[in-house]
This record gives sequence, C-alpha cells and structure tokens, in this order.
Amino acid sequence: MAFLNFGKIFASDIAMDLGTANTLVYVKGRGIVVREPSVVAIRKDDNRVVAIGREARDMLGKTHSNIEVIRPMRHGVIDDDEVAEIMIRSLLRQVTANRIMRPRAIVCVPSGVTKSEKRIIRDAAEHAGCREVHLIAEPMAAALGVGLPVGEAVGSMIIDIGGGTTEIAVISLSGIVTDTSIRVGGDEMDETILQFMRRTYNLLIGDRMAEEIKRMVASAVPLEQEVSMIAKGRDLVAGIPKSIEINSVEIREAIAEPVSQIVDAVKLSLEKTPPMLAADIRDRGIIITGGGALLKGLDQRLREETSLPISLAEDPLTCVVRGTGVVLDHFEKYESVLLKH
Ligand code: ADP
Ligand code: MG
Repeated sequence: MAFLNFGKIFASDIAMDLGTANTLVYVKGRGIVVREPSVVAIRKDDNRVVAIGREARDMLGKTHSNIEVIRPMRHGVIDDDEVAEIMIRSLLRQVTANRIMRPRAIVCVPSGVTKSEKRIIRDAAEHAGCREVHLIAEPMAAALGVGLPVGEAVGSMIIDIGGGTTEIAVISLSGIVTDTSIRVGGDEMDETILQFMRRTYNLLIGDRMAEEIKRMVASAVPLEQEVSMIAKGRDLVAGIPKSIEINSVEIREAIAEPVSQIVDAVKLSLEKTPPMLAADIRDRGIIITGGGALLKGLDQRLREETSLPISLAEDPLTCVVRGTGVVLDHFEKYESVLLKH
C-alpha cells in the first residue's frame, strides 16, 4: 500500500495562475494550496529574497532603503524578469520541494505574453523542478473555471478583470476567436482613488488604503443605500496623520473613468464578434471573473449598458486557477486548449 501511495505524494501535478495582483497554485488531488499577492521583497545589497507574497506586500511603504518591494507583473505582463522568475520559482518550490518525481505544470498567462516572456516562465518552472511545462491563455482558463462549454461550436464570452488588465474573449471550439485586452483593471481604480483623495482633501493615502476604499465603498452604479467610511492618510500640507470621512457617491465619481473604459471595451468587443457567435452570446450571456468583477454593481452596470445577460462568476478570484486545474485533471481531453510553443 505504501508503494501505491508514492504516486500521489510525489507526482502531484500543478496548475498556476500567474496574475498581476495574485498568484495561485493548485495541486492535483489537493486543491488550491498557494494564494498570495504577486509581490517580492528583495534586499538590495546582495539581491537576497526577504519575503514573498502577503508578507512582502505588508512591507510596502514600510521598508528602509536597503529593501525593495517589487511587483514583478504589471498590466498582465512580466515587468521585471529576474524578480518574476524568483517569485515563480519560490512559490512552486513550496509545493514541489522534496519530491522524487518531477511534476507536470500548467501555467496560466495573460494572452498578451511575448515569446521571451513565455521562455522566462517555462525556465522558472523548470528550475523549480517541473518536468514538463505547458502554458494556457488566461481567458481560456477562466472559461473552463466557470464551466463554459469551450470545446463546443457555440460562442461563449468571458470578461476577466484583474489587477492590471481587463480581458474580454470570445471562445468557441477550444480556441479564442476574439480577444480584447485593455490595460485597465483594479489597480487603475486604486490609483484614481488615490489621486482623488490628494486633489480633494490634500490627503496622501497608501496603495493599501486606496484598495480598501475601493472594496468597501466604491461602486459602478448608484447604491440603494449609499455608504461611507473613514479614510486615513497624511495631510499633504501639515504633514501629519489625518482621517477623513468619505462616501460612496464621491468615490463612484472618482473611479468613473476606469469603469467606463471597461464598459467601452466590452461594447467594442461585442461589435467585433462575428454575428453567429454574437447570437450565441445574446442567448447565453456573459460571465465576469477576476477580482475586479467584485466591484459593487459592475455586473448591473454592464447589464444596463449592453442589454445582455451578465453574471458574476462564483468565487471570481479563483476561476483562472480552477480552470487551469481542469486541464491538469483531464489532460488528454483538454490538451488542445494549451498555447503552442
Ligand atoms: P490578477 O489576475 O491580475 O492577479 P485578480 O483576479 O487576483 O487579479 O484580482 C485582483 C484585483 O481585484 C485587485 O485590483 C483587487 O483590488 C480587486 N478586488 C478584489 N476584491 C475586490 C472587491 N471586493 N471589490 C473590488 N475590487 C476587488
Ligand atoms: Mg487573473
């Protein structure tokens, strides 16, 4: 019996969602085992990694001059090769360490990745001990993650709103028919909130505060019950800590631009869709995934603007890694959806 168990223990294949904001790893037979912000803290003098993921993110804005906190992915592509490789390697090591048999890995990448970026990702995964490394495009993985019939001759539309990008894809017969990608996502909303606070209240807030404001009070449509919260930062004039009460009405106004850019991209993408597939989408609706999909009222806003059935995926932050896991679990069946080398 012990012998039979070896296979399970040592050869667990892995699926990885390499996102601008978050990196997730799914291990076959175990589920999602890593779920960390895509952030690395490095000591500058000797280039040693100090922390990765949540721990590194918590250092943002709190480090001394010898430690640099880096987000290696920007707008859905690798911004810093070296650091990205360090991050991929160390996250994969956490799940591949001490294994006798080298696992197969499927890494989900934004569909805009270049050839050299693919190379970097493959190398990093191989260095981390993976035997065979496959890549899959993000919208395809998201579609599989929400259970869309990607292999059938029907059009399915998926909108994935991540940290740095919004990707809108139409999928049919295991391929991506049209793909619209804009460099606007959750980060852009944080940035506009940050600027709004500075302009309106002379209040300098950090990235974390801006994100918290977005999650707590931001919305894409007027709320039945408008809400408010306390924003904390530093007064730009007096230089001292200051708290200000803000409400959902002004924050909606602050993020209006990135939200309409997303809405416009969806409309554009619908215009680009071949008529037969557009008819399928009209009947079957559109699913939104990614953390940005959680913005209050975004589904309603898209429904109003497109007059199409729009639904928010269940657990939108994990759709992509779960979809990549589907390919891993049924490799022969879904091999055709993987990216060619
Ligand atoms: P990526 O694939 O680029 O790593 P994710 O799908 O992990 O991105 O989504 C991360 C984005 O989702 C971040 O910008 C984050 O602020 C945003 N987000 C997470 N939860 C919420 C929420 N409740 N409301 C609005 N935005 C959210
Ligand atoms: Mg993503």
